[in-house]
Amino acid sequence: MPFAELGLSAPIITAITREGYQTPSPIQSKAIPLVLAGHDLMAAAQTGTGKTAGFALPILQLLDKGQRAKPNHIRALVLTPTRELAAQVSQSFTDYGSEVKLYSTVVFGGVKINPQMMRLRRGADILVATPGRLMDLYQQRAIKFDQLEMLVLDEADRMLDMGFIHDIKKILALLPEKRQSLLFSATFSDDIRRLARGFLNEPKEISV
Ligand code: AMP
Repeated sequence: MPFAELGLSAPIITAITREGYQTPSPIQSKAIPLVLAGHDLMAAAQTGTGKTAGFALPILQLLDKGQRAKPNHIRALVLTPTRELAAQVSQSFTDYGSEVKLYSTVVFGGVKINPQMMRLRRGADILVATPGRLMDLYQQRAIKFDQLEMLVLDEADRMLDMGFIHDIKKILALLPEKRQSLLFSATFSDDIRRLARGFLNEPKEISV
């Protein structure tokens, strides 16, 4: 099935065609229509399945319709366990978003916080972040969550393994209740399901 039949718009198709993608991967075929329709999602998918485009493409398309982020505000938050993954996911948003006028940026620990605070001043339609640095930036009043519409927990199982549950719960408590939330995880352990029950709203479950 071609990308266009999943409901993706022309600017998104143009960008992924430039990336050399011809047909959607199985996780993309399942996830994209559900996200475009506004559902919460619980998706079992490993790295290498194309899961990043599975959430990034519909997020770009949905955000392209709304009002841009206000200063220090963010509209979509993607949480990842490591800075390497954060950088990679952020690059994907840049690549897939080349034909839409949205601003995305990335923040993670281990580097100076000031340049990240500067980049957040204008607001970001999409922010990719690791949990600890996100909390630091919030405490420094560099991020406001009241415009947030979408949340992704990427590689949720690794986030729990790395001990981020406390930070994640703190972050979830700060977000508006009315939002669309997506969880991606290689496995669905009891801990993941417990976490999912706490923040997803009638999620659709998919796996590949
Ligand atoms: P991910 O699982 O999101 O880390 O993606 C794994 C790799 O597959 C990345 O290098 C993507 O650029 C690539 N990729 C994702 N979706 C497609 C697609 N539909 N066609 C070809 N390559 C893809």
